[in-house]
Amino acid sequence: MALLKIAKLGNPILRQLAAPVTAEECETPQFQKFLDDMVETMRTLDGVGLAAPQVFQSKQAVVIESAGNTRYPNAPDLSLLILLNPVFTFISEEKQEGWEGCLSLDNLRGKVVRSLKVAVKGYDRTMRPLQLDAEGFMAVVLQHEIDHLHGKVFVDRMTDLTTLTHMAEFDKYWNKEPTTVG
Ligand code: ZN
Repeated sequence: MALLKIAKLGNPILRQLAAPVTAEECETPQFQKFLDDMVETMRTLDGVGLAAPQVFQSKQAVVIESAGNTRYPNAPDLSLLILLNPVFTFISEEKQEGWEGCLSLDNLRGKVVRSLKVAVKGYDRTMRPLQLDAEGFMAVVLQHEIDHLHGKVFVDRMTDLTTLTHMAEFDKYWNKEPTTVG
């Protein structure tokens, strides 16, 4: 497996609409290896999620996992999810506010308001259809990662930019608040 390079804010690939993964493409050893590399990269960099555009592939693929994460110590455990071509089938009116960070925006955190509950359908790595309902932390991670597939990053979703915070200051002043996301 290989550690993939992360696209940083300002790289145009983060602003593109990602292309759906085709069944033919998904079957190839290259694409399967790419998914393994995404998981490896997320784990190595302590992300709780990673979207393909963040590693220079404008494809609709996201990986999510959280287990004893040091960047997000308060995060609940989430078992590994590999999700292709995801679409929201439900987004609740009810909202939650939480701190988010992103591997493409080094050392920054900001408060984002997201829907409390979502339902998503998509495909797993073998192109089997997959459906899931999520709330709380998992719902936020899904909204954050699927945003990447539509050329959006968390700062676009911030309603109050005065909460944008450097990590050092976050640890000093804000880390006592419940932390969300990746
Ligand atoms: Zn991100």
